[in-house]
Amino acid sequence: MKKILVLLGPPGAGKGTVGSILSKEWELPLISSGDILRENLKKETEIGIKAKKYVESGELVPDEIVMEMIEKELSNFIYNAGFIMDGFPRTIEQAKMFDKLTDSNDIKVIYLKADDDFLVKRLSLRRVCENCGKIYHLVNIPPVKEGICDVCGGKLIQRVDDREDVVRRRLKVYKEQTAPLIKYYKEKNILFMVNGEENLKNTLSEIKKITEW
Ligand code: AMP
Repeated sequence: MKKILVLLGPPGAGKGTVGSILSKEWELPLISSGDILRENLKKETEIGIKAKKYVESGELVPDEIVMEMIEKELSNFIYNAGFIMDGFPRTIEQAKMFDKLTDSNDIKVIYLKADDDFLVKRLSLRRVCENCGKIYHLVNIPPVKEGICDVCGGKLIQRVDDREDVVRRRLKVYKEQTAPLIKYYKEKNILFMVNGEENLKNTLSEIKKITEW
């Protein structure tokens, strides 16, 4: 049996932070569609050029682009024993495509739930390393040295889409296009809800209780 963990939830619920910690602990590779897209933007690849306006304004990148990108990524043998998915699927169309590539018996979907006001506040305090992508929170997960990444020494920046106006847009997009996945996975009996407003330690222990991995 493969171990596939899908992290579902609004922006700022903790998918990226939780995903990167569990990926190390469980030695399962992490696939973050947002990270792959940002890498493409940085390198100005064909995908990056097409995706830029959507990523920067908080809209979803069109399904065809993201689905092709993820399908290609998943064809790598490193994902054969399982993986953690952060940020994909984000639409019903993407979920249907993901169904074709996976067996639902292998999948656990963790829905990290949090309220809008909480998310706006948390994202305003989020910083990321511009070099390695490590995620910080100025109060809860601060770097040892202000403005500098603990892991690689890179510069910490605020994502352009973490500005409040863009965050509000992303929350609206989430409700319209991604939240329907909650029902979709509930009906398949593979959805587990976890409180995303809890501290990191409790959130991680909840997830581990559910997965038993
Ligand atoms: P994230 O890092 O998951 O917050 O993603 C950042 C941005 O990348 C999103 O606001 C979207 O513009 C884009 N993105 C990431 N994953 C997807 C996806 N599965 N489908 C469409 N757009 C995506």
